[in-house]
Amino acid sequence: MADPTPTPGIHHVTCIAGDPQQNMDFWVETLGLRLVKRSINQDDPGTYHFFFADAEGTPGTSMTFFPWEDLSQGKVGSGQVSRTAFRVPEGSLDYWEQRFDEYGVDYDDRVERFGETVLPFRDPDGLPVELVEVEIPEDDPTVPWTEFVPEEYAIRGFHSVTLWLADPEPTKDLLETMGFEEVGTEQAQGDTPGDERTRFAAAGPVGAYVDVLPTIEGGRQGHGTVHHVAFQTPTDEDQAAMRQAVQSEGLRPTQQINRHWFRSVYFREHGGVLFELATSEPGYTSDEPLEDLGGRLVLPGKFENRRDEIEAGLTDVTVPRAEQAEADD
Ligand code: ZN
Repeated sequence: MADPTPTPGIHHVTCIAGDPQQNMDFWVETLGLRLVKRSINQDDPGTYHFFFADAEGTPGTSMTFFPWEDLSQGKVGSGQVSRTAFRVPEGSLDYWEQRFDEYGVDYDDRVERFGETVLPFRDPDGLPVELVEVEIPEDDPTVPWTEFVPEEYAIRGFHSVTLWLADPEPTKDLLETMGFEEVGTEQAQGDTPGDERTRFAAAGPVGAYVDVLPTIEGGRQGHGTVHHVAFQTPTDEDQAAMRQAVQSEGLRPTQQINRHWFRSVYFREHGGVLFELATSEPGYTSDEPLEDLGGRLVLPGKFENRRDEIEAGLTDVTVPRAEQAEADD
């Protein structure tokens, strides 16, 4: 069987939050991402699904959340994505530290990792996030959203995810099957367990890295943890081939599921992390024009018939707007 087309990298990361308004305020106003889709969890329509991304919802930029208010606080541990890192332009971390001071964000000292500078912090639910300074090329596919954060500092999609695994070896093989290449190992530092961080790189340029760290520390899903990470399989053919390759490794991928803005296949990898494969098409502009993204609650397919009932079951949220922030001063 021919090898599948290597994945270019991460497509999106989906996490669990608590209060939806707090989640919205932090990711839109404090971090400056664009709300590109306001929808519901298609398996649990009483819960929102928020998608925060760059200006155009480019694959490799969307951080999405299920605000499950009834769930309790989670704990990051083995079998999870332990850290989600975003790219920011070189020289922008001073700006971010100042902004974090202003907004009362809980952040740590910068660390150097594989020659890059990393600023670790936590969102209001305790989710561990990192900003990594990188040189943004002229022809970068991401489009900065500048409502709250100026272009020269704006987040430019994913840099990496870090996986915490009890036994990283089978997962390393899987990553290679998916088209990642091992590019280096270094001593882990900062707040991470284990002693060795191994980096895998895809072609990128966005969300190109997966880091793997061994740990036996137990985790629990809840507020402040990652639910799953999705990797790009741009076309249905790419996805079918990748699905087959994953199945040949003894994993049990689902059939393709239509997620309305992309088509998806899910599987739990060897270490217990939920992986998804997501197509590039049709994208977030398939049901709302670019200028209106995130403007209304979008109910895909059959859920539109139940709009009144669904809206009544959701907590009201207000999307922060820059002009409102000024008016409040
Ligand atoms: Zn997903």
